[in-house]
Amino acid sequence: MTTTMSSTESTKRSSQPAATPSSAPPAAAHAPAEAKSSLFENVIKQFNKAAGLMGLDPNIGKILSKPQNEITVNFPVRMDDGRVEVFTGYRVQHNSARGPFKGGLRYHPSVNIDEVRALAAWMTWKTALTNIPFGGAKGGIQIDPSKYSTDELQRITRRFTYALGDNIGPEYDIPAPDMNTNPQIMAWILDTYLSTIPPHERQSCTHVVTGKPIVSGGSQGRDKATGQGIVYLVEEWAKDHALDLKSASYTLQGYGNVGSWTARLMKPLGAKLLAVEDHTGAISNPDGIDADRLFEHVRARGGVRGFAKCATIDHVEMLKIKADFFIPAAMENQLTASTAPLLNVRMVAEGANGPTNLEGEAILAQRGIEVLPDFLCNAGGVIVSYFEWLQNKRSEFWDLDEVDTKLRKKILGAYRAVREMAAKHHTDWRTAAYIVAIQNLETVYKERGIFP
Ligand code: NAD
Repeated sequence: MTTTMSSTESTKRSSQPAATPSSAPPAAAHAPAEAKSSLFENVIKQFNKAAGLMGLDPNIGKILSKPQNEITVNFPVRMDDGRVEVFTGYRVQHNSARGPFKGGLRYHPSVNIDEVRALAAWMTWKTALTNIPFGGAKGGIQIDPSKYSTDELQRITRRFTYALGDNIGPEYDIPAPDMNTNPQIMAWILDTYLSTIPPHERQSCTHVVTGKPIVSGGSQGRDKATGQGIVYLVEEWAKDHALDLKSASYTLQGYGNVGSWTARLMKPLGAKLLAVEDHTGAISNPDGIDADRLFEHVRARGGVRGFAKCATIDHVEMLKIKADFFIPAAMENQLTASTAPLLNVRMVAEGANGPTNLEGEAILAQRGIEVLPDFLCNAGGVIVSYFEWLQNKRSEFWDLDEVDTKLRKKILGAYRAVREMAAKHHTDWRTAAYIVAIQNLETVYKERGIFP
């Protein structure tokens, strides 16, 4: 489906919203040039490996290999200087067998239908793995948000929401933040959606988006949820490997929502942050980088570059640093045939979606570097999004302790299920996570059958 509409709004220029410390768009400046594989093809290859190992019914395999719906919208927005620009936005709804479509919205110049398809499929596996009653979707606009004023971003967001129309809804498809989107953007989507439905339905529809500001119906703990989930998993992995986090060290790529929360929540556990890279460059300090001060620096300066007492290093130097674990929390396709051999760590905790491609994965396996796979590792965000959705539906507000306790239980439940599955099939954790997720989906299809 393609929808095109017109716009008449116009206001004055101001600065960008700053709910997270990210992120001008990246010049993928630090990564060596390498042919990019199709992200969705990677997903399907990962899926096929697990499907083969578990003996998935091929008919169900066929269904899960294709997204249910793909929506592309081209929509015009008036800029502050009076010009009109036409933007392209996507929403891919991969699967809704287990519940409403669920997934983030990304604003980035590299957003395209292949990337959104892959990200939507990962959401299906993530919600099935963690056993929350959602399906999988993802969306985004191909845009460099640093080039637009706050007013322009607001109009772009509202117009995108309007163009999506009934393709989103509180019981149908529920967006959330992803790269370069934040609670402010969710508040604009909420307000636009509510403005287009009858007044008597509005109070019962605030769960059309999650990751909202708290006063607009957001949940305690949603902002930090993805980072918090990563930290709970790293703690558990460290216990399993008799690693004392107080004497452990790690390196990190990305200091936006996921990366900065992970580092700030890791700090009280004692693990030393040796290096951080973002779109402005990479920095290192063998004595450790203070996560809270770095957060303030990024908020003030827009990136990690120039942080006090740190050396400026290049991408390759950052990857080569010896540490216990590496957390990629930025872009996809970062650990590849050329970069995976450089890593000098025991484990990779994938905060980002799709940071390791198939060639990179094979090299990590060969080198005995364990991987906590993305759709397990970064599931904290969607788990707390589910809690937000439930609170909205029930008109409840849970306190932070309640949210954190429930998140920990849910994400560690998934960790243990994957650990058991990996042992059962003598396979890697990514394949094991796929098997757990696919089994949950297969059961639903087997029970319900295929209409008609
Ligand atoms: P964000 O926009 O808040 O931050 C992105 C970070 O990546 C920034 O620090 C930016 O500087 C950095 N970056 C961008 N390009 C880079 C490059 N070429 N080299 C190095 N660093 C670069 O985004 P986010 O919400 O933190 O999301 C990061 C990743 O985590 C994405 O893959 C996203 O899909 C995934 N994720 C996010 C959430 C969430 O709740 N926000 C949940 C699950 C997964």
